[in-house]
Parts: sequence; C-alpha cells; structure tokens
Amino acid sequence: MTKDNPNSTDLKSGKGSKDYSKYFDFSDAKVLSEDEFGKRIRIKGREINIMSEPNHRQEKQRGKEDVQVLYGNVVPDELRTIGEGKHYIIYTFGCQMNEHDTETIKGLLEQMGYRSTEDRKVADIILLNTCAIRENAEDRVFGELGHLMHLKTEKPDLLLGVCGCMAQEENVVNRILQKHGFVDMIFGTHNIHRLPFLVKEALFSKELVVDVWSKEGDIIENLPKKREGMKAWVNIMYGCDKFCTYCIVPFTRGKERSRRPEDVIAEVRDLARQGFKEVTLLGQNVNAYGKDFTDITYSFGDLMDDMRLIDIPRVRFTTSHPRDFDDQLIGVLAKGGNLVEHVHLPVQSGSTEVLKKMSRKYSRDRYLELAHKIKAAIPNVGLTTDIIVGFPGETDEQFEDTMTLVNEIGYDSAFTFIYSPRGGTPAAIMEDNVPMEVKKERLQRLNKAIEDNSRKNNEKMQGKIVEVLVEGESKNNEMVLAGRTRSNKLVHFVGSKDLVGSLVNVEISEVKTWYIKGEIVAESVAVNS
Ligand code: SF4
Repeated sequence: MTKDNPNSTDLKSGKGSKDYSKYFDFSDAKVLSEDEFGKRIRIKGREINIMSEPNHRQEKQRGKEDVQVLYGNVVPDELRTIGEGKHYIIYTFGCQMNEHDTETIKGLLEQMGYRSTEDRKVADIILLNTCAIRENAEDRVFGELGHLMHLKTEKPDLLLGVCGCMAQEENVVNRILQKHGFVDMIFGTHNIHRLPFLVKEALFSKELVVDVWSKEGDIIENLPKKREGMKAWVNIMYGCDKFCTYCIVPFTRGKERSRRPEDVIAEVRDLARQGFKEVTLLGQNVNAYGKDFTDITYSFGDLMDDMRLIDIPRVRFTTSHPRDFDDQLIGVLAKGGNLVEHVHLPVQSGSTEVLKKMSRKYSRDRYLELAHKIKAAIPNVGLTTDIIVGFPGETDEQFEDTMTLVNEIGYDSAFTFIYSPRGGTPAAIMEDNVPMEVKKERLQRLNKAIEDNSRKNNEKMQGKIVEVLVEGESKNNEMVLAGRTRSNKLVHFVGSKDLVGSLVNVEISEVKTWYIKGEIVAESVAVNS
C-alpha cells in the first residue's frame, strides 16, 4: 500500500475494467448505448445506467495492485446545496461495519444539505444499507422494498437506493433490476464516497443508476461522518483475506487494506477532543492490521500501544481472528489503561475437524491455548465469541467438542447461530446434512451452557465496584440508567439522567444472567471488570 499525494482529488480511481458479458443478458432488456463509461439498458420500460456491476469471480481474486490512500474533497462545492430543504432516512441491516458505513453515508448526505427524518412521508431519499451474511437478512430487505414500492408510487420523486453487502451480489442486483425496477440507485461497499455523484445522476437522469465495483477501491480518507452519542467506531482496515468457507464477506468487502496508522491516530485524537468516551476500532479481522504495509513494519499491537497514549477513556476493538492474535498484542492489552478488558474471540466450533472444513486455520488446541494465555495476562477479561452449530457433517461428538470448549473457557456471552448455507460460498456446495431438529436441539443446549457461564461469571462480581460508562435510560424503566463495564457487561442502577455520557463507579448488588444491578458510589476506586 502506498500513500497518495494528499492534495489529490481524483477519487474515481480503483475501478476495474468492465466485463458486461454475462450478467445483464436479460431476454427482455434492450441495450440503448454502451461506451467506456458504462452501459444504458431498458428493462420493462425503465432505463438503467450501469456504471459498473458486481462480478463474483472478480470479487474472489486477490491481486497485488497497489492500494492508494486518497485525501480529497469528497463532496464538490456544486453538490453541497443539492439537498437543501430535503430529508433522508437510512435503514441499516447487519454488523457494526454497516452501522459505521451508515455514519459515513449520513455525513455525505448532510454535507450535501440533506437532513435526517424518521417520517417516511417527508423523506426525499431512502437508502437500505444491507447485509448479506444470512439469507433471512436478504428476505427482510426485499420485504422492505415491497413496502417502499407503495411509497414510491405515491411520491415518484422519492429516491430509493440499495447499498451495502447485498448490492455486491450479482443475483441481488439482477433481482432488483428485474422485479424492483422502481429502485433508483444501487451501489456497493467499495464506492460509498461516490454517493454525491450517484445522487446527482439519479436525480437528473431519472434512470436507475448501478455503480457496484467488483474490485475494492482505494482507501478514501476525510470522509465526513455523522456520529452520535459518546461512543464512536473507527475503521482501521477494510476487507478480509481469510475466506472461511461459510462466509460471503471476503467477496463483498474485498481484500485486506489497512488505513495508515497516522490517519487512525489522528481520527481517534480528534474524537477525544470532541469529548467521545469510547472508541471501537473496527475491521473484519483487526489482527491482520498492518500486514499489507510494504513500507513500514507496524502491527495491530503497535496500533493499540499508540492508542494508550491518547486521552480517551476507553478503547475497544472488534473483531478478532484467533489465527492472527499474537503475543505482542496480548502483552500490550495487559498494560490496561484505556485498553479495556474485553476480547471478542470468535471460535465458531470446538472441533478441529469442523474448523478444518470451515477453513478457520487454527485447531481446538491452538484456540484453547490462546484463550488461556489471554485470561492469564488480563485479569477479569470478558471473553465473548461466535459459534455456528450444525455445520455440514457436524457429528454429535464434534458438537460435544464445542460444548466442552465452551465450558472450559466460560464465555461471558456468545452470538450463536444455526448454520444455513450462503449462496456463492464454498460451504454452500457441501451437503447440509444435519437435520434442522438436531441443529435446534444443539443450539438450545449451547445457549443454556452460555447462559450458565454468564451467570456464574456475573456472580463473581457481587459486591465489587466497577467503572460504568452510562449510556442512557434502561429500556424498561426510565428511572433506571444503563451502562457498560470495561469488560462490556450491562449494568443497571438508579441515577440522575445528568449522568448519561459520564463514567461512574457502581457497586454490584444483584446479578442476573445477562445484566447486573448495582448502586452508584461516590469517590470510590473501581476495579476493572
Ligand atoms: S475471518 Fe472468516 S468469518 Fe470473519 S469476515 Fe473473514 S472470512 Fe468471514
């Protein structure tokens, strides 16, 4: 990776050459024109401007092309008033990465003059920022599009857009073009910075604009972001090169590209100056951070060490891949300070054979060794994980390996899933031969074990004083405040609303399975829990 001239304003580079040969071969589509800038077709009376389209084969490739870091002005002056007096709504599906992309999309729209609303009737732009990780997430998006069709009929000037991971999928784009021709914009995860131009194009041409890059683009710095609250996400890298066999992310998010450390550090410093209390460094596999630098040697451990020097109370990170989690990082996390005691360490299965089929590139033993090392180095660490049950071919014994691993580690919580095949991934062509009732029974047992462990861990906190970042009122009782400990445990306590956004010490008085109750204490020294 190289750094580009900071004054460069060329934010369009990175687009690969186009190959329209297969995917837009609709029997009822008429090609209106085609040139180096794209292709215009008509399907069922709707004109479509295809600037670039998704291509699964290209998404899989990992080239050696240099990734540039570009520091330009993303919203040109002439587009800064295009949205004045107009409103937007963004519906976000999926993970923190998508939530964070939504912050960027909001930032771009606000720089164009648009303002947010929750009322669909006054919205001039509605975007669906989508998730491709599971089939049912896709169903929800298509369901939502069905509802929005009626709105579009009542208000034809409304701009409707689909973006995010689903937009990176050929079959999704084809389905939208064929069956949801009322959509106005489709763009992917690699070219969010092009949104101002796409909005302009869709507004003035009245065509459906498709701009989905199959190959990841460059790293664009200085993207505006609309952040709210006291917690902020900061991307440190994009993409994933791990290709776990069940996962679509390496296809939809491209190859691993790390942001330059000085840009990450400057962003976190700025957030500290603005008064944010917590940042979460984000990446699909943060432990691979820096491996793509060709001019410096700088790892995720180095970055976390530099985070300690910034005056912000809490720094978290997500998500980790056990394969790249090294001793240097453990040593840095053990220094504490603003590096909190929480590690999310996805295991996915406790069986080495299943891990092999998942292509996770570590064994059960290696994972256990790593988890124990982390626990030994970081007292009171909160360990959480992701687990899939019923992967193709998972036997009863292999599932028992997951159960024994869960009980040995004693996770504080876990995201648990029943395996379902994801089209386009290698696992999708494996025989999905574990019956659904067996999958469900395994999931139930697993969830029970996680609950028991969570409760046991919470019981150890009884009577302790913990530092809590107060996030707001509890969902069920406005007299009660809710916040998180450093180890990410949810705490409820009675207190004044003025405390929202501050760090307070709370003495734990009662423990539940998924949260703990306490009483605020003044002038006390908190332990790190
Ligand atoms: S590490 Fe595996 S599960 Fe995580 S994003 Fe990459 S391929 Fe998907």
